[in-house]
Amino acid sequence: MPRLFVNEVFRSVQGEGAWTGTPALFIRLQGCSVGCPWCDTAYAQDLLPQNRLPDEDAQVLRKAEPNAAYTCAHEAWLVRAALNMLGAVRHVVLSGGEPCAQPLFGLADTLLRSGCSVQLETSGTETLNCPSGVWVTLSPKARHVQPANWARADEIKLPVRHMEDVQRHAASLAKLAPEKIRLQPVSQDAAATELCVRLCLERNWRLSLQTHKFINLR
Ligand code: SF4
Repeated sequence: MPRLFVNEVFRSVQGEGAWTGTPALFIRLQGCSVGCPWCDTAYAQDLLPQNRLPDEDAQVLRKAEPNAAYTCAHEAWLVRAALNMLGAVRHVVLSGGEPCAQPLFGLADTLLRSGCSVQLETSGTETLNCPSGVWVTLSPKARHVQPANWARADEIKLPVRHMEDVQRHAASLAKLAPEKIRLQPVSQDAAATELCVRLCLERNWRLSLQTHKFINLR
């Protein structure tokens, strides 16, 4: 049975991308080696021994604030915890860290079979190890995206700080339908927002804002 490193599981409203406004259960997996300088979940990047809780520690299910503590859990434990926490929510977001660095296929498959929609938020640097019914949000960063992942993605959510963030992926973006592409200004920066709006108008791309940050939602 696969084991996964889990940072936190919590309910909130999806604040960005195509599912904006949808109540969701977020499962944040621990560990990422991409190293984006502006990462807003830096606490979920490292697998440091001093931050490791006992296996299957329920603290990760009731964190009041984000922190670097994580647990190692069997897939079945995580599925049980997720189903118990859903309540009326029917959308699950698998996020990180880089969730595709871990064996998440069975977790995603069970959640789909339980009637939930499942969204995977990934940098695309790893092989997409998820069932076909999963909605893939590909968020390309500075590191190389595996070529097959561009075609598999249901949406591209591209963090933009400077024009280079777009130019770096220009060839891949040019092959995609414009409505799949969402530009997201990094950290609500005014110049980045202006750039994103201009590019959306020029290319019929979409704008994605981190709306949860405007209302201090997790
Ligand atoms: S890929 Fe995501 S989790 Fe990893 S460093 Fe970049 S922003 Fe952070």
